[in-house]
Amino acid sequence: MPPSITFLGAAQTVTGSRHLLDIEGRKVLVDCGLFQGPRELRERNRHDTGLEAREVDSVVLTHAHMDHIGYLPVLVKQGFKGPVYASPATIALARISLPDSGRIQEEDYRYDLKKGRETEGPLYTEAEAYAALKLLRPVHYFQDVELGNGAQFRFLPAGHILGSAFAEIYFASGERILMSGDLGRPNRPILKDPTPVDYAEYLVLESTYGDRLHDKSDPADTLAEVLESTVRNRGCVIVPSFAIGRTQELLWYIHQLHEERRIPRVPIYVDSPMATSVTDVYSKGTEDHDAEMRESLRQGTNPLEEGTVRLVRDRAMSKALNDMRGPMMVISGSGMLTGGRVLHHLRNRISDPTTTVLFTGYQAEGSPGRRLKDGAETMRFFGEEVEVRAEIRSLEGLSAHADQGEILSWLRGFREAPRQTFLVHGEPGPQEVLSSLIKQELGWEVAIPSWKEQRDL
Ligand SMILES: [Zn+2]
Repeated sequence: MPPSITFLGAAQTVTGSRHLLDIEGRKVLVDCGLFQGPRELRERNRHDTGLEAREVDSVVLTHAHMDHIGYLPVLVKQGFKGPVYASPATIALARISLPDSGRIQEEDYRYDLKKGRETEGPLYTEAEAYAALKLLRPVHYFQDVELGNGAQFRFLPAGHILGSAFAEIYFASGERILMSGDLGRPNRPILKDPTPVDYAEYLVLESTYGDRLHDKSDPADTLAEVLESTVRNRGCVIVPSFAIGRTQELLWYIHQLHEERRIPRVPIYVDSPMATSVTDVYSKGTEDHDAEMRESLRQGTNPLEEGTVRLVRDRAMSKALNDMRGPMMVISGSGMLTGGRVLHHLRNRISDPTTTVLFTGYQAEGSPGRRLKDGAETMRFFGEEVEVRAEIRSLEGLSAHADQGEILSWLRGFREAPRQTFLVHGEPGPQEVLSSLIKQELGWEVAIPSWKEQRDL
């Protein structure tokens, strides 16, 4: 029997990464992510998943985003006994985000019950998330790990978030499949560049931005401009930010601007327990750091612990921020205003014309963040309609995913075409565009698998 791959998630969509390899009867699941977004996708977390937990021999995780690890507690609950391989940083991040996800699901469930809404209950609880964490086994980059029946794998740095990796999986025949996870970008702060790869018989490649180029303007310029005007009008900048990756990049830019004396010293508060814990992990993840970050730490300066940045650890301090006068900046979650402490800060300050709301990333269709970014005149927070008088700005170009040009230039590192390239983790539009480009420019065989499609390798 030849090895095979079954695409159980992130097939023609961007969430729910789950790819099941069958290598001589050993079943290896690469990524175990949650489907997120519209209801018909979220249903795939509950019913008809195509996955038999008890049949899976091992799980390999490429990185700690929820759409790559968030389904793990369900798998464990259904009888999967481990092991789960992940990089040390991915494990450290999962220890923060998985229990948090369980806790939020329990809270949502109780809220639905209270409101008398129909509910299927939490997918998993905080306790079940902790149970899943016990199965995690750390694997360093470039370390060979046996998967049984002659198969083995190793991780290569992917440059997407701390701990992110490509999984290079070898069959007993010596042939290999490279699972890209999410592909990062070159020349980004803190992290090493994505590892150049020059050969693989099979490639599974993400395609989120297959049809787009990122804005190439320097985020530091926008940040400097926003902070200057905030100092002038003694206002407050509220930054809705994503806890993993985005917040740390932002702190790095702020440090850089201070070093270059381009911005005045404004008090900056990171008001998100999760972002605070993640920032600690980012500071310690030396295996992932690029040369500049290493050098900085060697000289005794941590760019993520800038003197003017205060990490808010308790609720009392968070509340105290409400009464503080600007100039100041508050970085807080969630990034798309779907929950979190940022909502309190917005309710408190969004009607004040000296406030600036600075978005740091993509705002999904239908999210409150998208409505505000699109110019909503009023917003509803905790049942209260509030007039929007704040200035709304965006920091462009902070994406952690390679864009079309960056994907192609990484592919050009291959000496020889893979026998087959599968595009995953993308919407159909971007996937079609990228697929044609790869065929035209590189002459490769490209397939766009559908959900549950199985292919022999
Ligand atoms: Zn990711």
